[in-house]
Amino acid sequence: MNEGITESETVRDVVIVGSGVAGLSAAVYAARADLEPLVLEGPEPGGQLTLTTDVENYLGFPEGVGGMDLIQRGREQAERFGAEFTHGTVERATLEERPFELDLSSGDVLRTRALIVATGASARWVGATNEDELMGYGLSTCATCDGAFHRGDDVLVIGGGDSAMEEALFLAKFADSVTVVHRRDELRASEVMTRRALEHDDIEFRWNTELLEIHGSQEAGVTGATLVSHPDGRPTEKLDADLDVDQVEIGVGGIFYGVGHVPNTAFLENTAVDLDDDGQLLTLEGMTTETAVEGVFGAGDVMDPDYRQAVTAAGTGSMAALDAESWLDERTSQQEVSVVADVSASD
Ligand SMILES: Cc1cc2nc3c(=O)[nH]c(=O)nc-3n(C[C@H](O)[C@H](O)[C@H](O)COP(=O)(O)OP(=O)(O)OC[C@H]3O[C@@H](n4cnc5c(N)ncnc54)[C@H](O)[C@@H]3O)c2cc1C
Repeated sequence: MNEGITESETVRDVVIVGSGVAGLSAAVYAARADLEPLVLEGPEPGGQLTLTTDVENYLGFPEGVGGMDLIQRGREQAERFGAEFTHGTVERATLEERPFELDLSSGDVLRTRALIVATGASARWVGATNEDELMGYGLSTCATCDGAFHRGDDVLVIGGGDSAMEEALFLAKFADSVTVVHRRDELRASEVMTRRALEHDDIEFRWNTELLEIHGSQEAGVTGATLVSHPDGRPTEKLDADLDVDQVEIGVGGIFYGVGHVPNTAFLENTAVDLDDDGQLLTLEGMTTETAVEGVFGAGDVMDPDYRQAVTAAGTGSMAALDAESWLDERTSQQEVSVVADVSASD
């Protein structure tokens, strides 16, 4: 089913929202369990890995693998066992009644017994010129993923919170120099992260400075950056207001955004699924993908603020499908028991 959805009366066993690594891994497991899952691809079919060129840390690919290639292989694997894929973005979920209902942006409605939420968390971008073209080509939002490509480079980290400090400290292991570019004159990061970064010999700071433009090409990667500064901070605002700002061009081999992530959970806001203040989906305590709503499971970056790796997303995707399968099995057995009890009572 690839052209729209016309099955509002059909009730699926499992719908998987999201077609990144977590959704694909859940689809492989759910399909192999004969649950015939439907995968909604969402606004970014294939998810974040489609933004990157080389993935060197996914198990089983000693020479590395292209992000798009890995995603295509995952999709073929899931389709081989009977998973269906369709375009579709969930705008609203109604989870108080069963089966659950999902309203899609197309106006279609999907009904499902179990729901796997694998909608990821989108990294915030800063709006610098050329970021669309160079994301994945020397511009990254993940130092753990791409830091090792920058051995001996001079790199920039954009941001002033904990994620930026984590990126900077990690990159300092590989890069020749790390410069943190922050739009204000003090960091928002926790005391301990601030101290570690400020005391590190290979990390420098450019205060009251912002990234305006990234230089380079997809062939050459990132080669430089234009930075703007203003003594009162937030220089791009000053630039927009036609105030004088200092502008400088520097050569760098990599740029990392560390300005946070936005979990894609807006469609769950009015449900009983627990979200934290940042919108991160909260699963129950312990090693499970279950959420506060029975039958709804979370997988991948949407429920994981700490690791955010392809391999961990695949891991929690498989867990979500296994959790959904056993929940559906238990529910079916309970319903069978209650039918038998009703029949015996009426005899
Ligand atoms: C530039 C870059 C490079 C990276 N490199 C590496 C690397 O080398 N190694 C590594 O391990 N990790 C890497 N990562 C991190 C890795 O990509 C993520 O950890 C992984 O993609 C998370 O998978 P996910 O399925 O949880 O979410 P995502 O990949 O974000 O997928 C989310 C999916 O949900 C869909 N969706 C969102 N909202 C809705 C909605 N309302 N309705 C329906 N669908 C929706 C989207 O369309 C998308 O298909 C990198 C990330 C980036 C950005």
